[in-house]
Amino acid sequence: MNLNTVTALRQPSSAAEIREWRDGYAWLAGGTWLFSEPQPATDTLVDLDHLGWPALEASLAGLEIGATCRITELYRFEPPREWLAAPLIRACCDALLASFKIWNAATVGGNICMSLPAGAMISLVVALEGRCTLWPRGGAPREIPAVEFVTGNHTNVLCHGELLREVHLPSSALMKRAALRRASLTKLGRSAAFLIGTSHPARQDLLLTITAATPLPVQLRFTETPSAEALRQAIDVRIPADGYFADVHGSAAYKRHLTYHFAEQIRAELAGPQA
Ligand SMILES: Cc1cc2nc3c(=O)[nH]c(=O)nc-3n(C[C@H](O)[C@H](O)[C@H](O)COP(=O)(O)OP(=O)(O)OC[C@H]3O[C@@H](n4cnc5c(N)ncnc54)[C@H](O)[C@@H]3O)c2cc1C
Repeated sequence: MNLNTVTALRQPSSAAEIREWRDGYAWLAGGTWLFSEPQPATDTLVDLDHLGWPALEASLAGLEIGATCRITELYRFEPPREWLAAPLIRACCDALLASFKIWNAATVGGNICMSLPAGAMISLVVALEGRCTLWPRGGAPREIPAVEFVTGNHTNVLCHGELLREVHLPSSALMKRAALRRASLTKLGRSAAFLIGTSHPARQDLLLTITAATPLPVQLRFTETPSAEALRQAIDVRIPADGYFADVHGSAAYKRHLTYHFAEQIRAELAGPQA
């Protein structure tokens, strides 16, 4: 779509070139959302494409994902064998309702900054205990746990002009066992519920991440496998019946039902013998 309120495109080669941030500016990543609907409040796009941030850097410490990494690049990443949870990466890329065009243009950072309940890159980085590096305009970089980034449907912690620079996924999380369950009303539709569980291979713990069914990610941590009843109670404590996200992709009651159902399946799968 032509954005006919936009009159300027800036293409900095370093984020520091953008010292002043004013209303009307918007960071441009893949543009798949920015160009998908009118942006009457935007007059200047600031393109992230020329910043030259590395897409992916794997090390013993884990995986650094640059905010401008394309979803297609992440999909093609070949993880080390000992990262048992790495199949989550492709599964989460597959969970985006995306045409070929979106798939190739959309960035990981753009998906996280959109902060939609069905943002599958959010599901991924929260479940894998990521840490986000944020670059405020004119201030020192700050780091926050990925689970704290999204604050509601299409809202997040970013301050005026602040950039998401990268997400670090620690190898301790990548080496865990993982199980996921996802449902959408139509085959390639937006997720109605997307749950991921991880568990340390030598312990019977459980970290359960609930996304898409709720406006923001909800994470439940258990030091040992809970009983089915304890799991359900823990979900109820964190998500009241009116705390589910109702939209055209599913009613709150439907999403609540899926949450219980998938949480129990994940609990049982991770409590079972290692495949
Ligand atoms: C048909 C269709 C289907 C879609 N399906 C889904 C879906 O299933 N789930 C979903 O979550 N989204 C979906 N989207 C929305 C969007 O396409 C995706 O969220 C995509 O991943 C956004 O990434 P992008 O790089 O294109 O972001 P852009 O469109 O470039 O930017 C999105 C927003 O994030 C800001 N931004 C981007 N990068 C940064 C950064 N590094 N730091 C700070 N701010 C930044 C931009 O200023 C803008 O406000 C869909 C869109 C369309 C058109």
